[in-house]
Amino acid sequence: MVQQAISQYLQKQQQTILSPKAILFDMDGVLYDSMRFHARAWYETATRHQLVSTPELFYLYEGRTGESTINELYQKTFHRDATEEEKKSIYKEKAALFNQYNDGKAMQGATEVLKAAKAYDLQTIVVTGSGQHSLINKLQHTYPGYFKQEKMVTAFGVKFGKPHPEPYLMGLEKAGVQAHEALVIENAPMGVQAGVAAGIFTIAVNTGPLDDRVLLEAGADLLYPSMTALAEDWDNLISEIKNFKQIRHELHK
Ligand code: MG
Repeated sequence: MVQQAISQYLQKQQQTILSPKAILFDMDGVLYDSMRFHARAWYETATRHQLVSTPELFYLYEGRTGESTINELYQKTFHRDATEEEKKSIYKEKAALFNQYNDGKAMQGATEVLKAAKAYDLQTIVVTGSGQHSLINKLQHTYPGYFKQEKMVTAFGVKFGKPHPEPYLMGLEKAGVQAHEALVIENAPMGVQAGVAAGIFTIAVNTGPLDDRVLLEAGADLLYPSMTALAEDWDNLISEIKNFKQIRHELHK
């Protein structure tokens, strides 16, 4: 399965080799089990403002900037753009509710994935659309030694949110690697689209309520049901990638 995924990736992205040196991690729903609190905070805030939504909708919107999510809700409900004032005040409300609900729990299996990445000498980098100010402190507290501030991509550094490739292109730049030298780990359809648009082999982990199909249709190269499942398959995944390189090398001799 991995071999087939690599061959399809190479063809699709017109690359000749996959040779990972860095892993670009999305944050919410990958490193933290926080998406249910985001969805709940969004849904309650939207309902308060008579904006039509469902809790599940926010899993589909995950990765967008807050302002673009609010604008989308206004378009859906009132067929007009949200004003700057509406965007600012509604986002503030949502953020306050999220902070109230969020328990800050790490995603199960994420530490094991990070450990496994380190064991193979792969750089670990965060690429998130989140704009929480204490992000780096939080990451260093939960995952000590894995993330450096100067190598983070957050809402403060990017102009376009996911599904635009910009956040992941910036991640590549910060890691000092090319697209075929990285892997993306994502839980959201728009995050997967962003990773694929940046030309990177993108692994989806389905940690939320969406159907697998949604992540595969977004272009995921591989899919795991959880971070724990990815951690358990890590050695196999890396050795399959190495074998693939070896086979191609033999063929081209
Ligand atoms: Mg996410």
